[in-house]
Amino acid sequence: MQASSMARCVTCAAETELYVNGSPLCIACSDKNEAPTRKPPQSSDAGLSETNAALNAARDAYKRALQAQAEASHLKGPEGMTALFDANHQLELAAAKYQEVLREFIARTGMRRRSG
Ligand SMILES: [Zn+2]
Repeated sequence: MQASSMARCVTCAAETELYVNGSPLCIACSDKNEAPTRKPPQSSDAGLSETNAALNAARDAYKRALQAQAEASHLKGPEGMTALFDANHQLELAAAKYQEVLREFIARTGMRRRSG
């Protein structure tokens, strides 16, 4: 039995550590949510493309951390424990960073989700 502290995505119920506007959201759904905002911004906002680039980088890092964690979880012995511990830590950092950048991105694009 695994003690999992992971939340479930509000959209598809997949396990996730990512929170967007206070709601758990998996990386796949955050990708989907991003798609409709791809149209060019109406007002010139120099910071937006910067935020967009940061978002892509953070998402990449998060995906890599997720994969590294999955790989580390297959390792056995003390080496595997260390690798998994490290991978978990990296994943935590990457998720926090991605969340932060995503929040800023959403704030800039004015994208809002209404639940219910
Ligand atoms: Zn999802």
